Amino acid sequence: MRALCWQGPNKLGVETVDDPSILNPHDIIVKVTATVTCGSDLHLLAGYVPFMRSGDILGHEFVGEVVEIGSAVRQRQIGERVVVCSFIACGLCWPCSQGLWSLCDNTNPNPGIGEGMFGTSSGGCFGYSALTGAYAGSHAQYVRVPFGDIGAFTIPDEVTDQQAVFASDAVPTGWQGAFDGGVKPGDVVAVWGAGGVGQMAARSAILLGAERVIVIDRLPERLDQVTRFIGAETLDFSEGDLQARLRELTGGRGPDVAIEAVGMEAHTAGLIQTYDKIKQAVRAQTDRPQAVREAIIAARKGGTVYVLGVFGGFVDKFPLGAVMNKGLTMRSGQQNGHKFIPMLLERIARGQISTDHLVTHEMSLEQSPRGYEMFKNKEDGCVRALFHP
Ligand code: NAD
Ligand code: ZN
Repeated sequence: MRALCWQGPNKLGVETVDDPSILNPHDIIVKVTATVTCGSDLHLLAGYVPFMRSGDILGHEFVGEVVEIGSAVRQRQIGERVVVCSFIACGLCWPCSQGLWSLCDNTNPNPGIGEGMFGTSSGGCFGYSALTGAYAGSHAQYVRVPFGDIGAFTIPDEVTDQQAVFASDAVPTGWQGAFDGGVKPGDVVAVWGAGGVGQMAARSAILLGAERVIVIDRLPERLDQVTRFIGAETLDFSEGDLQARLRELTGGRGPDVAIEAVGMEAHTAGLIQTYDKIKQAVRAQTDRPQAVREAIIAARKGGTVYVLGVFGGFVDKFPLGAVMNKGLTMRSGQQNGHKFIPMLLERIARGQISTDHLVTHEMSLEQSPRGYEMFKNKEDGCVRALFHP
């Protein structure tokens, strides 16, 4: 089959690789019909996650058709249209029994790989290096989905592939930031980052009853999408004093819930290709604006900060004093979609969450390296590129 492979920092190519096959009786094989880029892939692409191997297949947000099922699979059927959660859970271990699916004990064969600096204990994830179990990703014609009864969800007839694909990751991640961030009716919520994840966090905050939702970015096309499709207010962080403007918009108090949906950038991670270099680079401090720090400084006394962005290593100048002195609650986590996907698919079907506008570019898998280039450089207003393998 054809697949989009990482070939080294900032180098991608479509290669011919072996088709996946059933390795475990709980596996299913999905023929991918649509798969999208995600901000998380940019961290891999740039080489910030030092556990990528040349030839690793990227991609973790996808929908497709079930074409093969293992002998122990009970819920799935050949020909079924499914969306697959980016994280892989067994459904039986202690974290799964607690509803902490993305922390599954059984789906990451290398749980100690990051030495405590890199999400040591997360479960498996498609297309995210040996750090999360070295599972082949979804930017390919076929994917092996372990625990197909647990991680694949039937797509309602009224939901299109293009809508359902975001239920893999962007929609549940955004929901998690707002829901686990404790957003309640009447709250003021600020979201850093107007990518797919930040937009879905903002929409979720509105659905949870927030009175005011403010999304912060600097890219005009994305801020425009927030106004048109999400129904939130916007702030351009490149214009003037962000903290002062946020205080002004919140009666001097600051947002009740501050959600960070930006993640590692070169200035936080360092331009790094090896684990040793990462250790040095992440210790080097910089003065560039950094969304986690901004969110902590902005949040009201007693408020909550939810960090959705992906990070590895130590983040620069984390203002722990502000966390302590303002009595903040800090939360974070890998997307726990198993808990939310069926409910979110219903909300998508009812038109409460719109995702169509996120697909600004659509192309074949053969053109996907160009799609990533556009997504990475935010060229031509690219918010997400969708590939049809
Ligand atoms: P994206 O790259 O499309 O969007 C990030 C946005 O942040 C961009 O629009 C950028 O202009 C903006 N930005 C950069 N610096 C900023 C700053 N200082 N203040 C405000 N905005 C700033 O990415 P995405 O797909 O929306 O993903 C966002 C983050 O969420 C990434 O770090 C991704 O890895 C992470 N993520 C986490 C999970 C999870 O399980 N927790 C799941 C999916 C994605
Ligand atoms: Zn993702």
